[in-house]
Amino acid sequence: MDFGFSISPSSTINLDKVDFTLYDRLCEIEPDAKKCMACGSCSATCTAGPWTGMSVRKVILGIQRGKESEAEKMLKGCMLCGKCTMVCPRGINTRHLILSLCRIYGEGER
Ligand code: SF4
Ligand code: SF4
Repeated sequence: MDFGFSISPSSTINLDKVDFTLYDRLCEIEPDAKKCMACGSCSATCTAGPWTGMSVRKVILGIQRGKESEAEKMLKGCMLCGKCTMVCPRGINTRHLILSLCRIYGEGER
């Protein structure tokens, strides 16, 4: 029966089964990644976000939750303008973090 709406699939994550290899590797070269509190200031100010779906907050959360392919797709929308770095209340150099992630993905260092 069509009720005119649908229920989203559960987004429950079993953290015991998540592969943290990429997150650990990121934290090795960008220790500030651990400081992210997912406030969303970076995403709110992102120049590319409205058109490409890029969100630093979602990229970091995705990597912490094992959704690496989603994070990798989002990174392609970043144009490295650096606005997100200017607004991060935790002082994370998000632009550098994005570059480091691209390097990890590009070199297949995992
Ligand atoms: S602005 Fe900084 S602390 Fe907030 S979600 Fe973005 S990276 Fe995390
Ligand atoms: S550097 Fe990338 S993620 Fe940050 S505001 Fe610019 S386009 Fe958005």
